Amino acid sequence: SARDKKYKRILLKLSGEQLMGDEGFGIDPKVLDKMALEIGQLVGIGVQVGLVIGGGNLFRGAALNAAGLDRVTGDHMGMLATVMNALAMRDALERSNINSTVMSAIPMSGVLEHYDRRRAIRLLEAGEVVIFSAGTGNPFFTTDSAACLRGIEVEADLVLKATKVDGVYTADPMKDPSAEKYDRLSFDEVLSKKLGVMDLTAMCLCQEHGMPVRVFRMDKVGALLNIITGSNEGTLIEN
Ligand code: UDP
Repeated sequence: SARDKKYKRILLKLSGEQLMGDEGFGIDPKVLDKMALEIGQLVGIGVQVGLVIGGGNLFRGAALNAAGLDRVTGDHMGMLATVMNALAMRDALERSNINSTVMSAIPMSGVLEHYDRRRAIRLLEAGEVVIFSAGTGNPFFTTDSAACLRGIEVEADLVLKATKVDGVYTADPMKDPSAEKYDRLSFDEVLSKKLGVMDLTAMCLCQEHGMPVRVFRMDKVGALLNIITGSNEGTLIEN
């Protein structure tokens, strides 16, 4: 592409719900193929892509806990759900001829690699998509925190959070038609206005380490590519 890229290495966070399409549960391979196409466009212009995928389409520890399970067991199940999503995404990427490797914070020999930061960076430099699964490996965290953590660790230029709405609004735009979108926010504003973009752990980590976060709508065709070439999609959060 002749378009200049603004970012060389990104960490993209997809929620589990984004993988289930119109179904209420599980994984829709058609949705994965669409995402693989968008990610492939980035790889094609030389952008290094790290991926963190949530598990909310399958299990969430807090919800399992509310239904009676032990919280830590539920969180372990949630992390295993992210591994399943990551394997499905790798499958879609490889079918589109995009080389990818899944790493897991929880070792699972024979299925995928154990997370290794230096190896992840080498794979990214070689043009592979690296999917970081099993979150942080710890209960009581979220995959948003995992995305920020891995983004900071592998020295990504930007964490990209894909959502259903095209950025951060003054109120929930699904419920309040007068809600307005922010183009830019500081971490302090996000925290003081309790905007609920990501959990506090994730926001504090990015604030402390100066990792910018952009919230955008993944469904919007070409949004990812626009961001990479410097367009003002969604909302940028930085110090
Ligand atoms: N989880 C965890 N530790 C982590 C990341 C995730 O225990 O570091 C568990 C937690 O139970 C969470 C579930 O995995 O609810 C799925 O992740 P998340 O809710 O972040 O998925 P998303 O909402 O992005 O689909």
